[in-house]
Amino acid sequence: MKQIVETARKVPVLAETDVLVVGSGPGGLAAAIAAAREGVDTMLVERFGCFGGTITQVGVESIAWYRYRDTVDVEGIGIEFEQRTKAMGGTTPFPQGNSDLLDAEVFKVVADEMVQEAGVEPLLHALAVDVVMEGNAIRGIVIESKSGRQAILARRVIDATGDADIAVRAGASYRKTPREEMMGVTVVFSCSGVDREQFLAYVREHPTTIADWHKDWSAQSSGKEKEIFSPYLGEIFDRARADGLIPREMTSISGTWSSLKETGEATGLNLVYMLGYDATDVRDLTRAEMEGRRLVMLAIEAMRRYAPGWEKARLRNFGMRVGVRDTRKIIGRYNITERDVRNQARFDDAIGIFPEFIDGYGVVILPTTGRYFQVPYGILVPQRVENLLVAGRCVAGDKISHAALRSMMACTVTGQGAGVAAAVSLKQGVASSQVDVARVQRALCRQGVRID
Ligand SMILES: Cc1cc2nc3c(=O)[nH]c(=O)nc-3n(C[C@H](O)[C@H](O)[C@H](O)COP(=O)(O)OP(=O)(O)OC[C@H]3O[C@@H](n4cnc5c(N)ncnc54)[C@H](O)[C@@H]3O)c2cc1C
Repeated sequence: MKQIVETARKVPVLAETDVLVVGSGPGGLAAAIAAAREGVDTMLVERFGCFGGTITQVGVESIAWYRYRDTVDVEGIGIEFEQRTKAMGGTTPFPQGNSDLLDAEVFKVVADEMVQEAGVEPLLHALAVDVVMEGNAIRGIVIESKSGRQAILARRVIDATGDADIAVRAGASYRKTPREEMMGVTVVFSCSGVDREQFLAYVREHPTTIADWHKDWSAQSSGKEKEIFSPYLGEIFDRARADGLIPREMTSISGTWSSLKETGEATGLNLVYMLGYDATDVRDLTRAEMEGRRLVMLAIEAMRRYAPGWEKARLRNFGMRVGVRDTRKIIGRYNITERDVRNQARFDDAIGIFPEFIDGYGVVILPTTGRYFQVPYGILVPQRVENLLVAGRCVAGDKISHAALRSMMACTVTGQGAGVAAAVSLKQGVASSQVDVARVQRALCRQGVRID
């Protein structure tokens, strides 16, 4: 590729802080709130105009859809997200299991409030583009915004960008699933004008289960998943393909509906699953956004034609950006494995738990049994770079463990763990890799986190 040389220049320092969190999805939001609750100066930097990441920017509202009566679930800031949104009247029951859907718009306000209440210094519309290093230790980041190029210095940095942007620029080792094996990307959307009662009557007459996903995914499960109801829409699109409305070879249209309000709004529609896109490649991102919108319009046309109650449905909005499931993951001090997440692993350096919920790469296991694994601190700690932790979907692990830890509630667990560990390492006066994990665990317990 042809290259140019950028001129070196002086960059003004916008702020100095103890803990700097980059990215505000479920991972980053939990990290910033947790660090600030430990009493250290904390700043949260986000490239878009709202906090919440995939929840608010993509429109994925199903933060805990895996939860059933016997699920042993996480405790901590992720549960507060649900409770706070419910208290604002911003939830609807998920059509299966035992959880509520977050209204993505209301959650923007919930996030604003929780950030302010914790005393986190917020910075929106700021894209992190580079890192400031002192030897192998991170000392801050460089941002680009409408104010120009500025630096933010910090004693600890938490990378919660989803894509490990900061860790990679700091020189940490990472892995990326090959493009042809990556999980699909999705343009999530919402519709208005749906006749709820008519559609729910159709769903009752045509019940679908997780087994219906298998036609597209050949999913492995523990067996019980085949009996579990799923708000899956496949047959409608099969008919649209048979009639030539959707090209026969186009299998990327099918998926799940979730929130259906009495006002006729269907939000969080996850009906387009596009393979072959690497979301760390700007040209792939461009193609994905445009192709995703095209497919959504086809999906809506099929719903209007074949789904009872959808005859007058209209597109309400697309998510602000395409939804991404899978890009880079750091190589950590520990790399969690499929064996760990499928066998109730226990760790001395646990910072939380997560139920045995796996969804991705052809495996679907729902935690209906009370089985859970512990989440170790080592997966937040990159190799080679000091005073940097990661949180959210870019933590260290293999493919199947990613299918568990990418879940939003799991991201809040690694986020809260990273935030508390960063703060405790500062109080203890040691690098974040050397923090006394027992002290971190005690602080997490005081914050209401379940460790074992
Ligand atoms: C379509 C879809 C459906 C899904 N369904 C579910 C589901 O039902 N349940 C579930 O639990 N999980 C689901 N997931 C997975 C889950 O949503 C994600 O894995 C999770 O949100 C990741 O959280 P995160 O905090 O790591 O990253 P994100 O939520 O992606 O947040 C990253 C944040 O960092 C910001 N950022 C990125 N780079 C920079 C930068 N350089 N500078 C500044 N800011 C930056 C982004 O704008 C964003 O706000 C789904 C994912 C998708 C895409």
